[in-house]
Amino acid sequence: MADDRSASMLEVKAIDAPHGHYDVAILGGGLAGLTIALQLKRERPETRVLVTDKRTEPAPEAAFKVGESSVEIGAYYYREMVGMRDHLERYQQRKLGLRFFMPAGDNSDITKRVEFCTPGHLDAFTHQIDRGRFENELFRRARKAGADAFRGWRVQDVSLGADNHTILMSHEGEECIATARWVVDASGRANILRRKLGVGEGVDTGHHCNAAWIRLAGGLDFEDWTDDEEWLGRIPEKGLRIHSTSHLIQPGYWLWLIQLESGPISIGVCADPRFHPWEEISSFDAWMEWMRRNEPQLHAALDGRRADVLDFLRVQDYSYGSTRFFSPDRWTLVGEAGAFLDALYSPGSDFIAFSNTFSCELIERELDGEDVTELCDFYNDFYLALFNTTAHLYRDNFQLFGNPQVMVAKFVFDSSTYFSGIGNAWCHERMRKPEDIDRLYTVLGPAIDMLPRMQELFRDWHALENTPFEGVSVLPKALAPYIQAQADMAHPAEGEEVFENSRKNVEYLKALAVWIFHRAARNLPDPPDESRPINPLAISLHPERWEADGLFSDDGISLVQALEMLPGIEEMDLQKRGAVAAAV
Ligand SMILES: Cc1cc2nc3c(=O)[nH]c(=O)nc-3n(C[C@H](O)[C@H](O)[C@H](O)COP(=O)(O)OP(=O)(O)OC[C@H]3O[C@@H](n4cnc5c(N)ncnc54)[C@H](O)[C@@H]3O)c2cc1C
Repeated sequence: MADDRSASMLEVKAIDAPHGHYDVAILGGGLAGLTIALQLKRERPETRVLVTDKRTEPAPEAAFKVGESSVEIGAYYYREMVGMRDHLERYQQRKLGLRFFMPAGDNSDITKRVEFCTPGHLDAFTHQIDRGRFENELFRRARKAGADAFRGWRVQDVSLGADNHTILMSHEGEECIATARWVVDASGRANILRRKLGVGEGVDTGHHCNAAWIRLAGGLDFEDWTDDEEWLGRIPEKGLRIHSTSHLIQPGYWLWLIQLESGPISIGVCADPRFHPWEEISSFDAWMEWMRRNEPQLHAALDGRRADVLDFLRVQDYSYGSTRFFSPDRWTLVGEAGAFLDALYSPGSDFIAFSNTFSCELIERELDGEDVTELCDFYNDFYLALFNTTAHLYRDNFQLFGNPQVMVAKFVFDSSTYFSGIGNAWCHERMRKPEDIDRLYTVLGPAIDMLPRMQELFRDWHALENTPFEGVSVLPKALAPYIQAQADMAHPAEGEEVFENSRKNVEYLKALAVWIFHRAARNLPDPPDESRPINPLAISLHPERWEADGLFSDDGISLVQALEMLPGIEEMDLQKRGAVAAAV
């Protein structure tokens, strides 16, 4: 690949010792470290940037790191804010949304599994990323942009000073020192500053899951598992499904299939140990045996191809947080150096985009002479709010993966909230300046309040109704406001129009919540009167709370009104779609 050849020209200098003084020292040159180096050089070219990674060699392709699926925010960040559009278009894969297959029977026939896919609007596109290929190109471009990017120098220690910080690095027994006004910790799970400063102590995300994954040479197309013409024909042409980030889900786990442009496919499972103990996935043989029991079609496809397995990696209890990410003492934590939640819906790159961009804003302002003490607190609070709100999507929710109807409703609600809120703001670059973030809070207030309430409703609904629906694909085409909310992220909008679109979409979210409520409440012994207007912010399946919570409200939305606001919503009702309830 031409990119790699030119990268090797620059390797020559990569092992020189870092030294001297910098405006910013970035600890770790992975995805977060290299992208913030590039972002800083793009936004404030005179900034003196050091980035040092302990890895000596260029990264291998494919069998390297996870973080291969991007969604709209992360994709926009890499493409437009870091300047990687040409590379992503040419050397990585464009993806077709997030695709999910719910369980059906013993999972021996994928055509029976209820399928859901987020819309793949042609303008709001995303990518599947070969991390090794991407990081090699980021490294080359960071150097070309003027950052001093080093490989092979491991950060041993950092001492934080009143004016400058000192970074001690080593390479094969040799030591060197550099100083910097700012330190950005991008060391991933090495968590250099988080450990040293104790900012992770006492933080429990309440989400404790494990993951294990492989890369398989030669790829794998699950459409080859069947000859069923009707099922294959639900998509415009055979061979398209695999371009989505595809997921096989069942109670207690979700499993990803991410085809990489370089050829291999990434296959991994994230499992709640209350359903699937760590020991069942923590070695390759155990993982395969687990696969045989839970995903027999995938197991059969893998079993004869053990020679194609390029790696087997795992991580136990992958989620963690921190209390501080942006400090007036001139350090920040970006990417996984600060926190990680879960990879379902691929938010890892989104959080890299947020933490890098808020770091850039602070660093650039401070280097230009501004006191950023208050701004650090502002971004810290906002980042924590983003993190804590996102945690509701995952915490205690893995049992829902066995419930096709609840999951279809959850996918539509969760992704609509993402598109309408932070997705729309981010993709129009209106989520950086404090004044824009303040506006966003006002506009998105109801959506932020609804999110945890709706997750509680999904859990309660699951306890009331768990019909083993089979046999339909929900590929939203008619649910106009949903498609529009996704398209809004890509359509040009300026000034007030950006917030106006979010405000309009929050109204659609409220109607969606009301529709979901009534669909779920049908299972109550005494279902609510559907003609009465409902306050979407007071929704629950606890009739004993309805009065105190103010569920029925003249200012609310009735089911008839919700249906008017949601043309095409019947697509989401599996029974009405003709799904079969399998015999149990
Ligand atoms: C199971 C799983 C699946 C995931 N899937 C996705 C996904 O599909 N999409 C997504 O967006 N995100 C995903 N993520 C998250 C994604 O992996 C992270 O967001 C991303 O890798 C974080 O990048 P980073 O640069 O912060 O860390 P890394 O990529 O880990 O980079 C850290 C760098 O620091 C270097 N380093 C460490 N210690 C030192 C030291 N002492 N001195 C110098 N250098 C050092 C390392 O060599 C490394 O290069 C997933 C995470 C998990 C656990």
